[in-house]
Amino acid sequence: MEAQSDLIQAGYILAAALFILGLKGLSKPRTAVRGNAMGATGMLVAVVVTLTDNRILTFWQLGIGLLVGAVVGGLLATRVQMTGMPELVALFNGFGGLASVLVVGASFLEVREVGDDPTTTFTLAAGATALIGAVTFSGSVIAWAKLRETLGAYGFGAIGGVNGLLFATGIALIAATLGAPTSVALIVAIVAIGLVLGVSGVIPIGGADMPVVIALLNSLSGLAASATGFALGNSLLIIAGSLVGASGLILTQIMCVAMNRSLANVLFSEAPSSTGGADADEVYAGKVTSTTADEVALLLDTAERVAIVPGYGLAVAQAQHAVRDLTRALEANGAEVVFGIHPVAGRMPGHMNVLLAEAEIDYEKLIEMDAINPTFAQTDITIVIGANDVVNPVAREDPDSPIAGMPILDVDRSRTVVVIKRSLSPGFAGIPNPLFAADNTLMLFGDGKQAVVDINKALQEV
Ligand code: NDP
Repeated sequence: MEAQSDLIQAGYILAAALFILGLKGLSKPRTAVRGNAMGATGMLVAVVVTLTDNRILTFWQLGIGLLVGAVVGGLLATRVQMTGMPELVALFNGFGGLASVLVVGASFLEVREVGDDPTTTFTLAAGATALIGAVTFSGSVIAWAKLRETLGAYGFGAIGGVNGLLFATGIALIAATLGAPTSVALIVAIVAIGLVLGVSGVIPIGGADMPVVIALLNSLSGLAASATGFALGNSLLIIAGSLVGASGLILTQIMCVAMNRSLANVLFSEAPSSTGGADADEVYAGKVTSTTADEVALLLDTAERVAIVPGYGLAVAQAQHAVRDLTRALEANGAEVVFGIHPVAGRMPGHMNVLLAEAEIDYEKLIEMDAINPTFAQTDITIVIGANDVVNPVAREDPDSPIAGMPILDVDRSRTVVVIKRSLSPGFAGIPNPLFAADNTLMLFGDGKQAVVDINKALQEV
């Protein structure tokens, strides 16, 4: 029995080590695939060890749970369009929070039924899980709806104060559980406060600030799992949850820096109005120059340095393979081609890197914002494909804009800018973009993939 318990502990340590090494591997593109495999192996070890740890449910119950989860997860993952991935990730965060609430709830009822006096650790951890897990769940559902663009940003002046009050009430209720550790009413109240806080906390967040919130919800799902680990006395859950919590927090910080906003500012400032600033007619009327694929090919034929800036529209159009072909054609013609990557381009952190890696575009050509910005002035042509907010100069120039102060890719400083998109409609932040009306900008209207295929064809005929 003791040998089995030692084996289980050893298995837990092995799984934890694999998680940590996996995360380290994921920090660099070159080692990311290996890191992913290590993390997945760690999870397999964790599942096998947990299955043999017979204190937990029966094999049948676990088997049925695994089967249901695998079928639902498998269906979701295989059916989702690439453009729906960020929404799916948001939902997964939410389900993580919900799972923690349910697990801790079941454990709470079990403790109550047995009539044991729960430990202080259990009581506090169960309360924390109920609050954090519920916030994560409802907040992620709202984030999901926003990413689907079925929900905008709504808020009222005092919403930051209301949220602060809800949070303080949640903490007070957790403290109250110390006096009544088996009170179902208290736990239900904590979950209810958490659910409301998740909704009221995420609903006022403006489009451009969503990356920060998504990273934060990811972190909270880890913290909820970690708190569940404390309640159950499961060290692996504590470690895995802390790793997700800590890496999510680091990502939140990276996203805040990318937006040039503090977390408090994102969470507690009023919802920005997307109608603020200049309106579209004012920005575009009579100033937009459109172009054709043939004209762009002629320009590219003589260009020595070309920068390609991808955005969310690249994912929608699935233009990454056509972009790779264009890159190869330009390089064969003697041009230097680089990619400018904005940290919040797309709809999830690393979105552009994943798309371009899928098309086997060498990651050494992917240049981060701070490094590429000073080089735009020496760039002959910058091709913006499906990017909008991340190249919007109002962030630099209009202090009233919802994206004021957000560092952008300074593509407007290139000699010529070609913007490929279907229309003049705004990006996720919902504001017009004066780049499209600039003197050095040519608009190539159309689907991103088709436009790049057309440019490639025209280049061969030049
Ligand atoms: P935007 O959302 O600003 O703009 C995308 C543009 O792509 C649209 O203007 C659209 O214009 C165009 N587009 C859509 N489909 C196609 C197509 N088939 N072919 C060509 N163009 C297309 O994207 P960005 O990447 O510039 O900015 C990301 C925004 O999303 C930022 O505001 C960011 O804060 C936010 N965000 C980012 C997250 C992240 O983690 N990265 C998470 C959540 C939000 P048109 O319809 O005219 O074609």
